[in-house]
Parts: sequence; structure tokens; C-alpha cells
Amino acid sequence: MKHGLSSCLDQTAILIVGIGASLFHYYFETSVRGPHVNIYITVALILMISLFTQYLVNSINASRRALRRANETLEQKVRERTEELRNSELKYRTIFENTGAATIIIERDRKISLANSRFLSLSGCSRSEVQQRAMWTQFIDEKSYRKMIVDENTGMAGIPVGSGRDFECQFLDKHANRRSILISFARIPETDSSVASITDITDLKDAEQRIYFQAFHDALTRLPNRALFVEHLQMAIKRAKRRPDYRFAVIYLDIDRFKLVNDSLGHGAGDDLLVAFAGRIRESLRDTDILARLGGDEFVVLLEDIDDLAYAENIADRLQKALRRPFQIKGIEIFAPASFGVVIDTRSYEEPDAIIRDADAAMYHAKESGRCQVKMFDKTLHEKAQHLLQQETDLRKAVQGDQFENHYQPIVRLSTAEVVGFEALIRWAHPETGMVYPGAFISTAEDAGLIIPITRLTVERACRDLQGWQQILGTELDLTVSVNISSRHFLQPSLLDDLRKILDQSGLPPHLLKLEITETALMEEADDTIRLAHRLRDFGIRLMIDDFGTGYSSLSYLQRLPIDTLKVDRSFISRIHEEPESNRNIVEAIVSLAHKLGMSVVAEGIETPEQKAVLLEMGCDYGQGYLFARPMPKADVDAMMAGRKSTLMGARSSVPQPLQALAN
Ligand code: C2E
Ligand code: MG
Ligand code: MG
Repeated sequence: MKHGLSSCLDQTAILIVGIGASLFHYYFETSVRGPHVNIYITVALILMISLFTQYLVNSINASRRALRRANETLEQKVRERTEELRNSELKYRTIFENTGAATIIIERDRKISLANSRFLSLSGCSRSEVQQRAMWTQFIDEKSYRKMIVDENTGMAGIPVGSGRDFECQFLDKHANRRSILISFARIPETDSSVASITDITDLKDAEQRIYFQAFHDALTRLPNRALFVEHLQMAIKRAKRRPDYRFAVIYLDIDRFKLVNDSLGHGAGDDLLVAFAGRIRESLRDTDILARLGGDEFVVLLEDIDDLAYAENIADRLQKALRRPFQIKGIEIFAPASFGVVIDTRSYEEPDAIIRDADAAMYHAKESGRCQVKMFDKTLHEKAQHLLQQETDLRKAVQGDQFENHYQPIVRLSTAEVVGFEALIRWAHPETGMVYPGAFISTAEDAGLIIPITRLTVERACRDLQGWQQILGTELDLTVSVNISSRHFLQPSLLDDLRKILDQSGLPPHLLKLEITETALMEEADDTIRLAHRLRDFGIRLMIDDFGTGYSSLSYLQRLPIDTLKVDRSFISRIHEEPESNRNIVEAIVSLAHKLGMSVVAEGIETPEQKAVLLEMGCDYGQGYLFARPMPKADVDAMMAGRKSTLMGARSSVPQPLQALAN
């Protein structure tokens, strides 16, 4: 509108100027040169000038309009651009504010020009305290900063050059509280600024540490566990290889009779004792020594960088002394002595497990030698360990090829010297070393988990043999056979089923089979033992307590078990005539106790007629020992049975022939 008006005004002005100029020219020509000569030329000229002027004016106006339009478009574009920029800034500001990380913009002079709220809350600073006033490096712990730039060169603003990667470091807030953070940097292109984004990983780190701790520590005592101990040992082995003067030793400890605490006072007390025990050992060691719990009541110590090998021995003695003081557990005083195995000559070892194994072997040796002792691992122990390993391999083959046989030792009625049964005693006919006695291999068989198949073979053979002898004898006499069942075997859920099957196969009536179990075996897992004992008894199998007097059975407990017979341990019988008469009194007490509880008594290891006489006097029912017969192979019993049968058939009332020979 404004446009149209101005151009209309412009054209009118030009027309007026044109007419004015024409009139002036006309007047000039008519008054000075005459009216008609140039009038037309003048008019034409004026018209041309007017037209040209008109053209010029139009062009100018058109240009002006174009310019205005361009201006308007430009303005529009600027407006749009400004809008876009504002939106974009808003967008980036929102992202900057709401990115998961604490974010800052760092300028060339290390100053923070912009920080998001997350950063403010992480740092504990106000916006004004941070922006333009604080340097980013003041929030990073110095050690962390040095670590961050150790591999990377620093670039502008002290930022490590390798941008794009995350650096783990310690953040210090306004109050110097530490947080673990991950920080990464990025240059803002074509500026001197960089952006740093910071993620707080404190919780993650804590969780990581907790997981690490759980994986490498024992939950109860919070000591390092086997895995961590093995790592330390591995490092010690490597160090010893590098430095000839570096020496280390390993001590293996096992609490003596820890099971008794668990069984008598409960697992809670057992746990408390383990914690107190660990504390007592820890306080007797140097800070650099490593104490770990391998499991159960087994601990190991790594003594590093020791000057002198005797030092390890001294430490073991010192630990032993520390354990002489009792522990107070749930208001009760408990002594927890331990057996120690020490490996001091560690230089030849390549594998941590081998050191632990040998320290364990030395500890085992300490236990065998009467507990509460310190034993050094040496060559003989090593040979013993190797022998055991070899024996285990041989035993496996022996089970497969059944290289075992039963010897039988008669059990006689003391008053008549009549054989009432046999104890089956296992023998191993080793193809290379010859006859091996049970004392030399039963514990290896137990440790190797072979005792169950071995016992199965023994029981099968015993039932079969006795059934054979019973068939020779007919029904006049009932002989029994007793078999030794080791503690590890006794509580196997399969025991009763196994026995039932074997009895079925042999056809032997269950009441002729007796199981000999030691007191200690019966004391384990009391409730389960009582239940199992009753099930066996209900089935008809009879139970005897072997080596009675050497274990720890309580009277009230004995009463709850369906036991038929007590076998008084050989050690009492062999010393029955020794002064003072305590052994004799003990045997007398056992006999009377057994009778009161409705049990019979067998005295083991009777070697002399005097021993037999004393036992008879006490009212002991049965006896077993070299005085009557040594354990003998099946063939000898076969022969004895054949003789007995002929005697029985000849004169039923007389004392059987073979037994008289034995009794003499
Ligand atoms: P035990 O059950 O106490 O067996 C008695 C041991 O005393 C037998 O030794 C026997 O030969 C020996 N003995 C018998 N009378 C006398 C004597 O008058 N004087 C002396 N000094 N010793 C006598 P053996 O056969 O060497 O057996 C030793 C131990 O091995 C047995 O002690 C028993 O605990 C265990 N054992 C034997 N056979 C088996 C078996 O098949 N399975 C299990 N688990 N253990 C067995
Ligand atoms: Mg026995
Ligand atoms: Mg015995």
C-alpha cells in the first residue's frame, strides 16, 4: 500500500516536472524564437525525457521493492534461524542438564564455564561457586590426576589428550569427601572449550569390592579364603625365584577335636570358636603374614620374607602357646589346641597346591603323633605321602580284582571255651608286597572313599562262609560272624539295603550277623545313629561296640542304643595284672555296667590263661585272643568245622574236639 502510494506520487511529480519543463520551454520559445518552429521538438523531447525519467523511476522503484522483499525474506530467515537457534540451545541445554552424568564445560584456562545441576550436587557447590571461578582439576584427587595423565600427555586445560576414553579417578567434593568417578573429555570443535562428563561409580565400586571380598574371603572369619591364599602363595613362589635371599614358609593348622565342640555345644558355638580362634592367631602374627581359612577348622599361614628358617618354627611355637589360653564361648571356657604342619623348605616348589598339600601332610602327621604338636614337612613325610598315593591306586585295583580275603578269629564262651562265633578280619593279598594287614590300609581306603566297596566284599564273604559252615554244622549250633564297620561307612544311607541284599544272597539269617562299630563312630550324628541302629536291630542284625573304653561314649547315650555286646579293648586286658589295679577295676566296671544294661561282654586280646582266669572271675562272658586262636584263613576254619562236625555226630554231649585244642 505504502509502496503504491509512493510510486504514484513519484509518477505525478515527474509528470508535473515534465509539464512544467514543457511550459517553460514553450514560453521561452514563443517569447524568444517564435511560436511554431521547435514546439513539436520540444514537446517530443519533453515527452522522451518524461518517459525516460518515468523508466528510471520505475526501475528504481522495482529495485527498491525487490530490495525490500529480499530484506523481508532475510528478516524472516533471521527470525526463523533465531528461533531454530533458540530451540537448539534449549534442546542442548536440556540435554546438558539431563544427561545421566555430571557435566561441565572447561575453558582454556581450566576454568569451568558451565556446569549442570548434577555436577553441582556432586560437588556440593553453588552455581556461582563453580562457574567462572572453579578449576576442574580442583575436584580431582591429586594422585588420581597424576595417574590419569601418566600414560596420556596433557593437552589444553590440563586435559589428557586421549579423549574419548574413560578415566577412573577419585572426585573430591567441596568438603573433601571422596567419590569414585569415571570421567571422559571431548573437545568442542572450533573452540578452546572441552566438555567433561562425570559418572559417579561409587556404588558400583562398593558392590564390586563386596563381590571381590566375597569371592576371596571367608564369610565367617572374614579371612582370605583358599583362592586368595593360593594367589599370595603363587606370588611368593615367583618372588623366591627372582630373589635368592627371599624365603617364605607355610604353616597349616587344624583345631584338635573341633567336631566335639560342634556336636556338644552346637554349630553356633562352633562358629564363635572359629572366629575367636582366627582372631587369636591373627594377633600373634606380623601384619605382613597372611592368615587364611581353608574351610572347616583348617587354617593356613604364609610367613613371607623370613630371614631364618627357624623363625617359622618359632612362630608355630608362639601360636601354640597363644592357644593354651582358653576361649570364652557363650559363657563357657573352651580350649582349642591345634596341630601344626610346617613347610619351611619352599624353594623347590612350583605349585602353591603342592605346598599346601605337604603342609597338610605334616599337620596330619602331627595329629597322628598325638595332636597339639608342630611337625615339619620333610622327605620322609613326602615319601609317606607318595606311598599313600601309590597305595590308593593299588587299592582301587585291589577292589576291582578283589585281592582281599577274610581271616577269622574265633570268639569263645569263657566258661566252656566253646566257639560261639568269629570276627572277620580283612587281609589284603597284595600281588607285590604280600599280605597287608588292615591297620596299614583301612585309613587310606576310608580317605579314598573305597571303604564301602571293600566292606561290601568282606561282608559278602563273611556271610557266605558262615552260611557254608552253618550248613556243615546243621541247625544244632548257631555261630555268628562279626564284621567291622568303619565310622565313615556306618552312617551311609545305603548300609541297611546293602546288608539286606547280601544276607538275601547268602541265605544267612540276619541274627547271625553282627556289626562291630567303635564308640567314636557311634557318637557321631547321635540322632541319625540311634535311628539307624534301631532299624538294623529291627531287621535282626546285632550291634557290638568295638574297642570299648578307648572312646567317649556317655552312659545315657549307650542306653538309647540297641547294643548287644561290648568288646573291651585289648589295651585293658593286656595290662589287667599291672599295678595299680586301675585296669582291672575298669574292666570289672565295664562288665558290670554291660550286664546292668542287658549287654554281654567280649574281652579282646586274651593272651594268657591268667588273663582268662581273672576275666572269668569277673563274670566276663566271652573272650577272643591268641590264647584261643589267632585269626586264621577260611581253609583253617573249614578244617576245624569238618572236625567239629564229626565230633558232634559222634558224641553230642562232649566238648567239641577242636575247641579243646584251642583252649589249651
Ligand atoms: P579290631 O576290630 O579290634 O580287631 C582285633 C584286632 O586285634 C585284630 O587285628 C586281631 O588280629 C588282633 N588280635 C586279636 N587277638 C589278639 C591278641 O591276643 N593279641 C594281640 N596283640 N592282638 C590280637 P587286625 O586283624 O590287624 O585288625 C586290626 C583292626 O583293623 C581291627 O581291630 C579293626 O578295627 C580293623 N579291621 C579289620 N578288619 C576290618 C574290616 O573288614 N573293615 C574295617 N573297617 N576294619 C577292619
Ligand atoms: Mg573288631
Ligand atoms: Mg577291637
